[in-house]
Amino acid sequence: MKTDLVQIFEVGPRDGLQNESHLFTLKEKIWFISSLIQAGVRNIEIGAFVRPDRVPQMADTDQLCHYFFSAPKRLGLAQAWCLVPNKSGLQRALEVGVTHFAVFTAATETFAKKNIGMTIQQSLKEFQEILRAARVVLGSKLKVRGYVSTAFGCPFEGKVAPKKVLSVIEKLAALGVDQISIGDTIGVAHPASVQALIQPALKMLDRGQIAVHFHDTRGTALANTLRSIDLGIRTIDSSAGGLGGCPYAPGAAGNLATEDLLFMLNGMGMRTGIDLDDFCKVTLKLFRKIKRPLTSRYLQTYVAQFGLE
Ligand code: MG
Repeated sequence: MKTDLVQIFEVGPRDGLQNESHLFTLKEKIWFISSLIQAGVRNIEIGAFVRPDRVPQMADTDQLCHYFFSAPKRLGLAQAWCLVPNKSGLQRALEVGVTHFAVFTAATETFAKKNIGMTIQQSLKEFQEILRAARVVLGSKLKVRGYVSTAFGCPFEGKVAPKKVLSVIEKLAALGVDQISIGDTIGVAHPASVQALIQPALKMLDRGQIAVHFHDTRGTALANTLRSIDLGIRTIDSSAGGLGGCPYAPGAAGNLATEDLLFMLNGMGMRTGIDLDDFCKVTLKLFRKIKRPLTSRYLQTYVAQFGLE
């Protein structure tokens, strides 16, 4: 990977929309995802095979996947990823042709239990079974991304020591996961804690195997991203418009906004393949349905300058 190339992993349609109260229709989601891809997005998380009664926003993931995977030209050059949290999700994912899986665990036991109903060890065991079964069907077409949430702080256990996170990263890597996304779920990381975790992680894994997922709850997401880039990380998770609140900090900003990230990277001369202006137009159209202020600073100034059209 050339050093000035940054891979943006767009999580808006899944991690973002999942935490928004306005329910989007299948047609709206197809438009949203297709438009982001047209703006240049190459890796995008589009859905989750979770229980529809628990997460209504993801209830149409099967249809959404069917739409995109039944006619691959609809995805163009993009890779579409889906969260497959357990064995019941696996069958659904395989039926609609998903090849790029995301699995989700945590660095702290309390968060894992409350969020996915399993201990960390149980979740790893579950992933091992999911991946084994998926590999039988998909072979080398299978790509897997593992999320480690609460990597810097936990709403229940407080500060999290890097060695706890590194041990989960090591176990996920041993399962053959292609990329591990290190998540600051409650937005408490800062550049020093980022360095304390990313530096030893880079001794264990290649930099292409590590992604970072920052939340802007306390305004440090871009600073943390910059420190990660300086350390060698080249895959950054972000969400269109900053979609997705932080469920543990009501009203606070959630995911790092893709527009803010793009503005910074463009200014630094780093390449992402995404057109910032096209991207903003898509997000602004989507936000007409969401009755809350935009958290993306770049979009706020964009609206002030050009209006909502
Ligand atoms: Mg997130």
